[in-house]
Amino acid sequence: MDQKITGFHQDELQHWVADLACGHTQHVRHEPPWQSRPWVILEQGRQERIGFKLDCVECDKEKSSGLGTA
Ligand SMILES: [Zn+2]
Repeated sequence: MDQKITGFHQDELQHWVADLACGHTQHVRHEPPWQSRPWVILEQGRQERIGFKLDCVECDKEKSSGLGTA
C-alpha cells in the first residue's frame, strides 16, 4: 500500500529509515549495486523525497491478515 513519506531518521546502525504517514517505517538503504539510493545519504535528497510515496509492506501485511474486515 502506498504511503507518504513524512520524514527520515537513522537506526542504531546508521541506516536511513523513512517515517511513513501510516506510522510504519521502512529502511531506505543505499547498498549498490543491489539497492541504489544515492539521494538518501544527502540531506537535500531526503528533503526532496518527503511527500513521495513508498509501498508500505507492513500495511499490506495487516491488510492480508484479515484484521479490520467486518
Ligand atoms: Zn504502513
